[in-house]
Amino acid sequence: MSGKIHDLLGVGIGPFNLGLACLAEPLELDAVFLDAREGFAWHHGLMFDDATIQVPFLADLVTLADPTSRYSFLSYLKQVGRLYPFYIRENFQPLRAEYDAYCRWASERVGGLRWGRQVVDVRRETAHGAGGGPPGENGGTDDEDGPVYRVTAITSDGTETFRARHLALGIGTTPWSPVDTTSLDGGSPHGGRRVALHAADYLHRREQLLGLDSVTVVGSGQSAAEIYHDLLAASGHSGPRVDWITRSPRFFPMEYTKLTLEMTSPEYIDHFHGLGAGKRDRLLRDQRSLYKGIDAELINEIHDLLYRRSAHGQDTGLLVAATTLEGATVDGAGIRLDLHCDDTERAWQHHTDGLVMATGYSPTTPRFLDGIASEIDWEEPRPEQAREGRPRRYRVARDHTIDLAHRRVHVQNAEEHTHGLSAPDLGMGAMRNSIILRSVTGREVYPVESRIAFQRFGAPADESRPARETDQARPDTSTERRTPADQQAQEAR
Ligand SMILES: Cc1cc2nc3c(=O)[nH]c(=O)nc-3n(C[C@H](O)[C@H](O)[C@H](O)COP(=O)(O)OP(=O)(O)OC[C@H]3O[C@@H](n4cnc5c(N)ncnc54)[C@H](O)[C@@H]3O)c2cc1C
Repeated sequence: MSGKIHDLLGVGIGPFNLGLACLAEPLELDAVFLDAREGFAWHHGLMFDDATIQVPFLADLVTLADPTSRYSFLSYLKQVGRLYPFYIRENFQPLRAEYDAYCRWASERVGGLRWGRQVVDVRRETAHGAGGGPPGENGGTDDEDGPVYRVTAITSDGTETFRARHLALGIGTTPWSPVDTTSLDGGSPHGGRRVALHAADYLHRREQLLGLDSVTVVGSGQSAAEIYHDLLAASGHSGPRVDWITRSPRFFPMEYTKLTLEMTSPEYIDHFHGLGAGKRDRLLRDQRSLYKGIDAELINEIHDLLYRRSAHGQDTGLLVAATTLEGATVDGAGIRLDLHCDDTERAWQHHTDGLVMATGYSPTTPRFLDGIASEIDWEEPRPEQAREGRPRRYRVARDHTIDLAHRRVHVQNAEEHTHGLSAPDLGMGAMRNSIILRSVTGREVYPVESRIAFQRFGAPADESRPARETDQARPDTSTERRTPADQQAQEAR
């Protein structure tokens, strides 16, 4: 272990921490970023040729923080000789494959990236060696510059240890499924009669699925629609019957209208962050159509495809909404899905050879934080949530910190429950990174906008008084404690 103490260590090099590395590079900052993978790869299991990212190219790694950065998407296009075709294409949304190639281009140029390092442990130590004191700036046995974290990573040759003053956790989210696909998956690489997988691996096993007699897609979002459309288009006359089942009340479009898009804004984050946990959870459920829907054009393309198939006497399979998957098992007829129709309350079963769970991703609390768990600011579940087995989650301050002092441990894309729907949004990555670098450097290197929307969220501060006891007025005793950063944000709003 070298004696070196980095100013900033990022765990995970997805788009968000890669953006942080690109914005940190011009600063006198010693930053290092670790990722378990051997190189940058963005959702290759869903890298459809014609898929575009769902944000404009300005939502690249750097531009919204620093339009002069050498790591902008336009710089990339210029370098690879594609700027004029992009200009003539006149479509703000790059292809998904282009965005992936752009991020890889940046990752091959920016300094401080270390691939093939799986972080497995984080501990706090003093600069004078292991076994740091209790939390709190300079309260314990920290050195004059505060705590030092010791981060251990597994590499192909053993382990490697790093030390840093600030951490940025950018480990993304993990595929989530209500049923365990591995126990249903009978498929070997050479093709079994049953194939079950999460959408994240779709393109890696597409040919296997097309070799079956029937495939069922379960899920309601963009990925479910892209996979269903791809399978239906490829199945032709002789391919598998393709079915699509979703729990959502209907196959609903994503909403892109501009006043709604203003909800990915610093002032909406301020507003949302200031609400009680119960209210935030309810709002997130109500806001599903804003970011978990399907591109409207794709929905219509699917109908057109079904229409063409029916005109040519081809099977149009099963398409059913408002249906919850309650379980899945293997029986003599293949994979049996136990389903519940939420409208009629009727249970029914459906058999399929192939199952694609396009049921999304969920944030996870990494085990490598166990070593500093006592220094993390946790939001404990409310009694009714604890009964449902919901785990505790970070109490993320407005400046994206989660340590009790709210100064040193920052999270990326793990704060949907406190900051709202902009947490996974590529368009807000540069602003979050500007806020993180402001904390790390102690100065606002990249201007952080506080107002970008025309509309107001919540009653204007100077005219507001509680109309009636609501979540906002009544502190959520089980979880609410305002951190210094929150107080400032609250007062700044
Ligand atoms: C198919 C798909 C398309 C999307 N398209 C859009 C879009 O168009 N617009 C938009 O705004 N959002 C989009 N999103 C949402 C979101 O922007 C992406 O999920 C984005 O990849 C999140 O970036 P991230 O940096 O948080 O994490 P990820 O991209 O998930 O990267 C996390 C990285 O952390 C590494 N890692 C994890 N644990 C460890 C560890 N212990 N040690 C070391 N490394 C570790 C992983 O190897 C991985 O490389 C999309 C999501 C998906 C799934």
